Amino acid sequence: MASEKEAALAATPDDGKPTIFDKILQKEIPSTVVYEDEKVLAFRDIAPQAPTHIIIIPKVRDGLTGLSQAEERHEDILGHLLYTAKVIAKQEGLSDGFRIVINDGPSGCQSVYHLHIHLLGGRQMNWPPG
Ligand code: C5P
Repeated sequence: MASEKEAALAATPDDGKPTIFDKILQKEIPSTVVYEDEKVLAFRDIAPQAPTHIIIIPKVRDGLTGLSQAEERHEDILGHLLYTAKVIAKQEGLSDGFRIVINDGPSGCQSVYHLHIHLLGGRQMNWPPG
């Protein structure tokens, strides 16, 4: 299996095509859902980088292939995604802290072009990130 960096460099940025996350949203491929409401879906990452590693996505992409594509109309969903990360962190018992990551574009190591937040926790994080 390609490394996350290899997958990111091989990905086609911003092509607007359906992604693997659309298949997860449509339940065409299985995922372990930890939270869902009318606007967002959150599921466990298939290649976890920490004891808790959750991906949070908007149900409607609406042009948000990545954060760099955000426009003013996306402010509400961006705020909701971030607030949802906090709700899920509490649900997961991450009382000592956690990390939020948004990878953007090839240099940011983004491999799936449907905006998503990584919620990582359950171990001590390091700084700087790789
Ligand atoms: O930020 P980036 O685009 O690299 O993150 C995509 C994430 O989606 C990866 O962490 C990858 O493991 C995850 N993924 C997943 N389930 C899939 C495909 C990718 O959890 N079926």
